[in-house]
Amino acid sequence: MSAAIPSELTCKELVELVTDYLEDVLPADERTRFELHVCSCTGCRAYLSQIRALVRASGRLAERDLPAAMRDEVLHAFREWKRT
Ligand SMILES: [Zn+2]
Repeated sequence: MSAAIPSELTCKELVELVTDYLEDVLPADERTRFELHVCSCTGCRAYLSQIRALVRASGRLAERDLPAAMRDEVLHAFREWKRT
């Protein structure tokens, strides 16, 4: 198993990494994968801007602040997008 070429992030991974990304604690390579995925995935771009708006509104960010229902909703929406 080679780690030379990082595989593309999945939407699910992106959702899991989004708080780390916004807190700027992701390692550089993870951050690059994150940004590559956001560039190529409309759904995750929308998700990221939603989260950013949420962070602006609350002034802070913590994993527990992301409503689980919202997470599920987004992941469900991803599945719908993938189907089309
Ligand atoms: Zn995505």
